[in-house]
Amino acid sequence: MKAPAKSSGSSSPAASILEPSLGADPGRKPGEGERLGLFSLLAEHDHEQLSVYYEPSCGYRGIIVIHSTVLGPALGGTRFWSYRTDGEALVDCLRLARGMTYKAAVAGLNLGGGKSVILGDNRTTRREALFRAHGRHVESLGGRYITAEDVGTSTSDMEYIKAETNHVTGLIGKSGDPSPVTAYGVYRGMKACVHYRCGSDRLAGKTVALQGCGSVGYHLAKLLHTEGAHVVCTDIDPERVRRVVEECGATAVATNEIYDVRADIFAPCALGAVINDDTIRRLRVEIVAGGANNQLAEDRHGELLEERHVTYAPDYVINGGGLINVNAELHGWSPERARNKAGEIYDTILRVFEIAREERIPSYQAADRLAEQRIATIAQVRRNHV
Ligand code: NAD
Repeated sequence: MKAPAKSSGSSSPAASILEPSLGADPGRKPGEGERLGLFSLLAEHDHEQLSVYYEPSCGYRGIIVIHSTVLGPALGGTRFWSYRTDGEALVDCLRLARGMTYKAAVAGLNLGGGKSVILGDNRTTRREALFRAHGRHVESLGGRYITAEDVGTSTSDMEYIKAETNHVTGLIGKSGDPSPVTAYGVYRGMKACVHYRCGSDRLAGKTVALQGCGSVGYHLAKLLHTEGAHVVCTDIDPERVRRVVEECGATAVATNEIYDVRADIFAPCALGAVINDDTIRRLRVEIVAGGANNQLAEDRHGELLEERHVTYAPDYVINGGGLINVNAELHGWSPERARNKAGEIYDTILRVFEIAREERIPSYQAADRLAEQRIATIAQVRRNHV
């Protein structure tokens, strides 16, 4: 393991190696002015495998990337997206696969990291052949990669994949909506943050500024309300705000006002990149702890939070409950066991803060260290043939 997992949405510098040859000039003859650098791209962050599959009959163009299988089969969703170039799709897939390795590792799961992308317009209604082609692609990897839903795909798409392979999860009628488990993990992680700051993990009497009252935000608000915390919330959807106000006694604010709320905790549960130059100046909180993915606009914003003495619960650690829920489906765990596992996020967050303190690094880097330590340790244990 080399560089830390990118939590931001920024693309790797490797994109520049790739773009000219993979994207912009399809007419170029093989070998002519080659700057593909495929293997250096894989070597940059120790990716194990890249698989590209084309099925002209239905226009399927898919990429599967396996970052690491040290801890177990690589798990990660299928993203269906219109990328500007093939190179952009590949770089996105590489970045997302690596993020999955880190997420599974800190969650204590025996899973590696992978991801796949299907290139195209995800609004298409001609889905069966496309997703069955993708299922065949997944099957061709013999279980090294397990897929699930992601942006642009749904549970019914997973059913098409299932017709071709067993290496798929997130199926209709199985583990179901992961958001209650995710919210519970966020709640436990939030309590760990409060314990770290105040010496007690009581949330009663604390004020939480909640951005996003969707699936995760709603369940989180319920848990906070039950414990006696006051929730100040916002959402672009007034109906979702109303539900949290009515059921949790929350106070509503306009979407752009949430960053100015004087609170103990800011809980981003909507969008990525909400911790940025603009919002960091405005935040009046001690803790940032929420379920959204990719909260830091750039890694340096993790450092900026640190400088301002704001305790940041790294996003992929605190929101690991969704992945834990998928893992529960794979292994036939009871909902109770999944919830208990998500509860362990409390201890993981405290361990992350301990590493940050010992090594004098920001918490987002400490999370990466924790993941890398676990992967390196297990790789050592498993190096012999038994
Ligand atoms: P969701 O779509 O149910 O909820 C998101 C909410 O954010 C919606 O109600 C939407 O209206 C609101 N929103 C959008 N733009 C906003 C803005 N500018 N200001 C305020 N609110 C805005 O999604 P979700 O499943 O609750 O996921 C929320 C976040 O958590 C996402 O970043 C997601 O990737 C992440 N996450 C979710 C899970 C899960 O189990 N659902 C797991 C891990 C991570």
